[in-house]
Amino acid sequence: MPMPVPIVIPLFVFIFGALIGSFLNVCIYRIPEGKSIVSPPSHCPSCGEGVRWYDNIPILSYLILRGKCRFCANRISVQYPLVELLTALAALFFFLKFQLSIVFAILFIFTAALIVISFIDLEHRIIPDVISLPGIIAGFVAALFLPEVGWKSSLIGILVGGGSLLLVAWVYQLLTRKEGMGGGDIKLLAMMGAFLGWRAIPFIIFASSLIGSVIGISVMLIQKKDSKFALPFGPFLAIGALIYIFFGSRIISWYLNFGAYGG
Ligand SMILES: [Zn+2]
Repeated sequence: MPMPVPIVIPLFVFIFGALIGSFLNVCIYRIPEGKSIVSPPSHCPSCGEGVRWYDNIPILSYLILRGKCRFCANRISVQYPLVELLTALAALFFFLKFQLSIVFAILFIFTAALIVISFIDLEHRIIPDVISLPGIIAGFVAALFLPEVGWKSSLIGILVGGGSLLLVAWVYQLLTRKEGMGGGDIKLLAMMGAFLGWRAIPFIIFASSLIGSVIGISVMLIQKKDSKFALPFGPFLAIGALIYIFFGSRIISWYLNFGAYGG
């Protein structure tokens, strides 16, 4: 029985997202090591055996192999199917919200970059300049095609995004004599400002700080780590940016209405 058309296209978009996610895994694994992301083909980091094409099906292969290498039974990180699933879901949600449009393409590429940055930051505590710096330029160019952003808002976004975190980092350092925020976070927020415009910046800082604090305190309570324990901030900035993309305009208009009636 043929599948009805309304399901076929979203299914293809989901599979496309999962395949891109598979490529993002390669980026996450190789960029911090300064290796090429195009060659050599994927292999098991434990036994060096090449990954067969039939074991390279996003999400499914991990489940079929039960998370183990076919040859040496070494555990495969759950990060691989997780990244594939997240990328597939991002593609699907953007498709449902924006159809196959230029906005879809821009936001999907932006989100793909955020996924790579977040997982590298979680693992290595760095945000690679090779993504964030070209990302600032790419975001500025992309903003020309986003009617709700435009080049002026993008340019101000780069300055406000970079500048505000620089200020927060400076004040934090002044108060605590500790380095809290890395330069990588500053460049990442500048990149977000470039893609989403300056209006996104206060929201992203607020949302990421809130979520970061809640999760940071929970982790400290569970693991009983002291206050010197610091989570990487990049993934929280990424979550803040994604919340802004999906709900930002609604939350901001609610806030403005509330301000108008409440104030
Ligand atoms: Zn192996």
